[in-house]
Amino acid sequence: MPGEDDFHGASRQPVAAFRKYLKDPVQERTLTSTFANGILYARGATKALNNSNHTKWQRIEPGDLALFFRNKLLIGSGEVVLNIKSAELSDDLGRGVEPGSNLPYELIYVVKNIKPWNIDRKDLYVKIGYNNPNQLAFQVIQGGKAADVAEWLEEQSEITRTQLEDIVEKLRDLEETDELRLRLARKEQAYWRQMLFKGSQIGQCAICNEHYPVDLLVAAHIKKRSACDREERLDPNNVLPMCLFGCDALFERGYVFVDKFGRVRLGRSSTFSSTLRNRLTKLDRFVSCWSDKNSWYFAEHAENTGNPTD
Ligand SMILES: [Zn+2]
Repeated sequence: MPGEDDFHGASRQPVAAFRKYLKDPVQERTLTSTFANGILYARGATKALNNSNHTKWQRIEPGDLALFFRNKLLIGSGEVVLNIKSAELSDDLGRGVEPGSNLPYELIYVVKNIKPWNIDRKDLYVKIGYNNPNQLAFQVIQGGKAADVAEWLEEQSEITRTQLEDIVEKLRDLEETDELRLRLARKEQAYWRQMLFKGSQIGQCAICNEHYPVDLLVAAHIKKRSACDREERLDPNNVLPMCLFGCDALFERGYVFVDKFGRVRLGRSSTFSSTLRNRLTKLDRFVSCWSDKNSWYFAEHAENTGNPTD
């Protein structure tokens, strides 16, 4: 259902135009209360020559996540409110027929909470687990997966400094096991990743200095987050990339620390096996990210993990 009133992939339409095609008063009430200003958002698909879209469309349920693409980009998403099959309605809306197949856009679904995106379709398909990234049928993500993909999309969007402050504030009051806590912590992580990696595919581990794909790196606080006050937690100088090949865990648990000259040293522990000692000795080097701005945090880390600070 392409059109000049295109809104991030959805089409803006008057609720009034849909009225006579609704199944029952419940649908009418739903539309009236959801779109109080009289304008709704909709999409239409053809049933496709092999009818494949029709089968998919019939399974659509309220709350599902509709995805809108243009070329190779996800340009928008919306939450399904209801669906209506009607070639007449499509015609009323002046939608015509699909070039080539001559099929009308009769599989209509009404959506709300339209969000704009600018995300590579390939990245999204990796997330969804589609194995045919070139297929360009209409896409609606269903059930529990809808919430999961919606959350992933949120994480892809820019998180502002103000939002971060809000997240950190909320996290303080939440229990360790709270599900919201997990979501907020992921958002906080997403914020720092934006800052550290700026959209690039490769990043450098602050401890071993090796370069890795960013999905093998985490944004780690130098001074343990739980020991930080609000300012420290929000300070970009306190956050560095560390790799999942051990540096993140080894540093966090104090098996290694960074001394006052910016050199990685073996932590003070009595439980070093020779294997572990060998592993840690390989990390003994000066870290390139060390500076006046973060040396204090490294000293705090050393102290908090029982390692010497001078
Ligand atoms: Zn590393």
